[in-house]
Amino acid sequence: MSLLARLADQFPASPARVRLKAALLYAGVRYHESLAEAADWAFPNYMPYILPPGVAAFRGQRKVNLPYLVRMADDTQVRLRVKPDSPFEIRPDGSPLGFGLFYGPDQTLLTSLTFEPRLAWVDALTGDGTPMRHTGLSQHGEMLVLNIAPGCEYFVVPEGEKTRNLSCSFCLYGLPDKRLDSLGQRLYEAGLPPATVKRVVEACAHPDTRATQLYLVGGSMLDMAKEGERYVQIARALKDVGLTDRYYVAAGSGALERKHMEELKDLGVRGACFNMEVWDAAQFARVCPGKDQIVGRQRWIDSLEEAVDVFGKANVMTAFVGGVELDGEGAMTDARRALESNLEAAEYFIPRGVQTIYSLHWKVTGKDRGQEPVYSLDLFLELNERLAAIRKRENRLINPAFFSRRSAYMQLEPDYDEEPA
Ligand code: SF4
Repeated sequence: MSLLARLADQFPASPARVRLKAALLYAGVRYHESLAEAADWAFPNYMPYILPPGVAAFRGQRKVNLPYLVRMADDTQVRLRVKPDSPFEIRPDGSPLGFGLFYGPDQTLLTSLTFEPRLAWVDALTGDGTPMRHTGLSQHGEMLVLNIAPGCEYFVVPEGEKTRNLSCSFCLYGLPDKRLDSLGQRLYEAGLPPATVKRVVEACAHPDTRATQLYLVGGSMLDMAKEGERYVQIARALKDVGLTDRYYVAAGSGALERKHMEELKDLGVRGACFNMEVWDAAQFARVCPGKDQIVGRQRWIDSLEEAVDVFGKANVMTAFVGGVELDGEGAMTDARRALESNLEAAEYFIPRGVQTIYSLHWKVTGKDRGQEPVYSLDLFLELNERLAAIRKRENRLINPAFFSRRSAYMQLEPDYDEEPA
């Protein structure tokens, strides 16, 4: 039975467009030269693709850029992966969107599609001549992500003369590195350089971002109060130029004190997303030692519930890394137990007004350092189908102003809850 037929058989409660997106996240598409050509105008993947032996070089090169995000005719968005043995291929189809998704031995055309374009703001300069793409701003569809303090203090927890690493086991992006110098972030200090804040605010204010959501993120601080002050500084700068009206701004911080949540709300921040990453208490301690030892699991949960009081029920989320319980020393050994633990989190949070969002845990595999999700496609679809049923039962669907089909490129929750226009 073909992949899509099997998924239709096993997951009849999932819409066909969701099954297709999940299948593409896992199976990817075969390489076609038109993908490399599209990278001339599309938003590029941060990792170039190395053409395998037997595939003709592109413009004399074997290392090529490819688009990052596919946008289908019904606006479903998905990250583009290229895998040689995929049953899918993207190539020009003569449609107004330009490309088609072809499937199976008889090359059935499933849908027309395009790619997220590289927008003008990416190449524009701020007033002081900094390329806007270097200001700490990035974009996934209609969501801008602002990160001007990427260094996470959990990597360098002071202990006597030395430091201890209490970072989350899956995290690479929070490692304090040279990005701190270019952005002027100083570890253990809440305040950010006014010039850094001004530059990123200028980038957000570019007239052609085509975004509706602005998600503020950054590395965690050891002092919760200081982290709150940092987000307040950013929110104030956004409010001063009207950006909290233009965008649905959300704080994707660590757990915050209520006082700072209220200040953020007063400044026009509309949502909060304090990521728990993993629900099971023992796995939380193992996977997120910093969050566990510095904030504490119960404090994290309490903070999410306080956020519901402050921001309202449709405006609080917490993200989990699906499958991270199954990876590394001390991991759960039973994938179904991990799945049931994920659902337990949803049963706890969703009735209380906190949405649980599952991204996949991708493990680096093989000699070419490719990445594969730890959850199987079937487990990921089962998890999402059951999460969608809980949201429906509780009459609490994902708020599309906060997180939409056009911003979820590796998650499925909005695809279940939002009908295509
Ligand atoms: S708190 Fe966030 S930035 Fe810090 S280690 Fe964990 S996931 Fe990474």
